[in-house]
Amino acid sequence: MHSQTIVILGAGHAGGAVAALLRQQGFEGSIILIGEEAAVPYQRPPLSKAYLKGEVDAESLKLKSDAYYHEAGITLRLGAAAKAVDRAAKVVLLEGAGEVAYDALILATGSRARKLPVPGADLRNIHELRNLADAEALKAAIEPGRRLLVIGGGYVGLETAASARALGAEVVIVEREARCLARVACEPLSNFFQDYHRARGVEIVTGAGLEALRGDAHGFVEAAELDDGRLLPCDVALIGVGGQPCDELARAAGLACDGGVVVDLEARTSDPAIFAIGDVTRRPMPLYGGRMFRLESVPNALEQAKQATAALLGLPAPPPEVPWFWSDQYDLKLQIAGVPFGADEILVRGDPGLAKFAVFHLKDRRVQAVEAVNAPPEFMAGRQLIASGRTIDKVKLADPAVSMKAVAD
Ligand code: FAD
Repeated sequence: MHSQTIVILGAGHAGGAVAALLRQQGFEGSIILIGEEAAVPYQRPPLSKAYLKGEVDAESLKLKSDAYYHEAGITLRLGAAAKAVDRAAKVVLLEGAGEVAYDALILATGSRARKLPVPGADLRNIHELRNLADAEALKAAIEPGRRLLVIGGGYVGLETAASARALGAEVVIVEREARCLARVACEPLSNFFQDYHRARGVEIVTGAGLEALRGDAHGFVEAAELDDGRLLPCDVALIGVGGQPCDELARAAGLACDGGVVVDLEARTSDPAIFAIGDVTRRPMPLYGGRMFRLESVPNALEQAKQATAALLGLPAPPPEVPWFWSDQYDLKLQIAGVPFGADEILVRGDPGLAKFAVFHLKDRRVQAVEAVNAPPEFMAGRQLIASGRTIDKVKLADPAVSMKAVAD
């Protein structure tokens, strides 16, 4: 493998990480990193947080400096979108002209924002937030006193709402489900975040779908029409209704896909020469009975980058990791570990009223997942308890005066 060519398709978090890891682990062949964005690989999490608020610049988002790629002998093909993978010929075909041959291919094409098929979705000043260009445009549109409409109360929507408040904008969130974060967090956590946003001036409308967006005479969005007939005026809108895997090249190439490219714990696809990592994959989770999940998180992208590197270089497979995620809103640091799969009990440790607490999801006295707000020790210990599968003493766990080190049986 060491004299061969590894092509990485998608120069995002997973693609950038795997390129650097391959070199760190001693791969001496060619590495070619293809990405349709013009930028070198960068972190997306700050796009809805510190970057949107103007606290950090684009330079600080880069995973590695521009110079690194030259020094590490990694060939960048940026601003180059791939249009097909020819598995028989082992080449990636680029838009326009050109093709890139591979011995091994790593798909790291990520996910894209889901579109909302409502009338008016193509009006001016309607945004999505997936990449730097999106964040630039949104940042320019958010100003003190302007009213931002956020469609979708998921993490990106809530983070953007918090950032927009910090920038002095008015914010209204419309969420179709009965509560924000309905798909990704438990009810006590949703309630806590909704209350926290409302106390900071954000209007939240739940249980209401978007019927249409209305524009003014110049084609700029000026209101949202809800399915219960309400009209919400706005100057800017963000559509944040989740992501979809960019797996169409994989599907067209005949790789096994199921709402994402299906991979194993070595990040292998159904073609032995092709691997896939990051948001684009559907992957097994050994700590949850091998069930298949599609995760959109940086830790997942990094874990799969390690898996692919080990498999390609014939190194021992890395141990399975507990999935985790974080979100920053106002002065809140939320950290989530695990998946509350099959949990039979919820236990709250600490006081939501003090914005410092953790929700533990238990199954037979074993921690399945933890959602920690401004509570890093609970998050860290919870993550270890998920990995170890040890049973815990519920009375001790519920008592914040008992250290997290002492809660395991
Ligand atoms: P990406 O980083 O999206 O990279 C995929 C790349 O592939 C893109 O650059 C894309 O242009 C390129 N590409 C796609 N198709 C082609 C093609 N045909 N040809 C060439 N290039 C192509 N995760 C967390 O853990 N915590 C957070 O707080 C958090 N906040 C987030 C906030 C925002 C606003 C967003 C958008 C995401 C956030 N995430 C967060 C998710 C995290 O950023 C992603 O899980 C991570 O970037 C996934 O890495 P990836 O490489 O799979 O995809």
